[in-house]
Amino acid sequence: TLVQRAYNFNAGPSALPLAVLEKAQQELIDFRGTGMSVMELSHRSAAYEEVHNNAIALLKELLSIPENYEVLFLQGGGSLQFSMVPMNFLKPGEKAGYIMSGSWSEKAFSEAKLFGDAYHVASTKEGQYRRVPQIDELKYNPTDAYIHLTSNNTIYGTQWKEFPDTGDVPLIADMSSDILSKPFDVSKFSLIYAGAQKNLGPSGVTVAIIRKDLLEKANPNIPAMLKYSTHSKNNSLYNTPPTFGIYMLGEVLNWIKETGGINELAKRNEEKAKLIYDAIDQSNGFYIGHAEVESRSLMNITFRVKDEELEKKFLTEAKNEGFIGVNGHRSVGGCRASTYNAVPFETCKAFSEFMVKFQNENR
Ligand code: PLP
Repeated sequence: TLVQRAYNFNAGPSALPLAVLEKAQQELIDFRGTGMSVMELSHRSAAYEEVHNNAIALLKELLSIPENYEVLFLQGGGSLQFSMVPMNFLKPGEKAGYIMSGSWSEKAFSEAKLFGDAYHVASTKEGQYRRVPQIDELKYNPTDAYIHLTSNNTIYGTQWKEFPDTGDVPLIADMSSDILSKPFDVSKFSLIYAGAQKNLGPSGVTVAIIRKDLLEKANPNIPAMLKYSTHSKNNSLYNTPPTFGIYMLGEVLNWIKETGGINELAKRNEEKAKLIYDAIDQSNGFYIGHAEVESRSLMNITFRVKDEELEKKFLTEAKNEGFIGVNGHRSVGGCRASTYNAVPFETCKAFSEFMVKFQNENR
């Protein structure tokens, strides 16, 4: 292809696969002979329903989602999930445990406090969130309404390698920034949610994967739109869903399937992240990784340059060389390369070479 694509390391919304964009472009004005764009189809039409149901089926297939789970398409982003989770599942007199591994866990926790008794199961805040808690640090009650964790900490660049087994206590995970990046066992979780705009598609659609028995335990006295059961009873067609976003999500899932599925993506993500972590590790302290090695994220690589002036220069030069989105999150500063599924190997390679070159020119 002759299209000049940016070296896009944005943390979200982030890169989409070129093949998906090209297909969407081709189908934009006349979607499969309808004479309409997907955007113009009724959400009650057969043509749209096929798009919708295909996306659900593909997600079930790619993640091997067991029969007793439902896939929902919601709106309001990961942030509305922070509120919907306690609104539905934290009742008076109950406790909910939050595992604190970064800013997004903090946001989720503060929403839970509005609805009930939420507490910290463990926190790595004291060490500037350089790692995720270890499984044996998790102290919770067997009677808790649920335990909540963030699978990948987009801002600090840490990620769980292995998830805890919470037995009868429902485990709920915010997987906004690493869903579909590597295989994991869905059956460990009662609810998984993810805003689409990093690994799944454009912003505007949020995926929830929920175990059916949890639906029945939900608080009935909440607004219809904020109840998981409303969406599950209506196959996520209770109201007008973000149809174009769901179409794009389905096409991203198709691309993942054609690429070889989640195991192949995991392999590629390891290779991509290694290029950049190697540049950090082989820099003799010129670049300083934020995350402890065992907690390093394959999706968001966070680091500093050894002094502040050089860091400014690094970020300016990176920008001039066409690397987009390398500034760390505004709350923590530093540098961050987000290497989500759709970021090509070549983009990561070019960046790691730039890091080495910059070091050689500025040591
Ligand atoms: N959770 C995580 C892990 C995130 O990285 C983000 C956004 O970057 C959010 C939640 C918030 O998502 P949204 O902007 O879709 O509300």
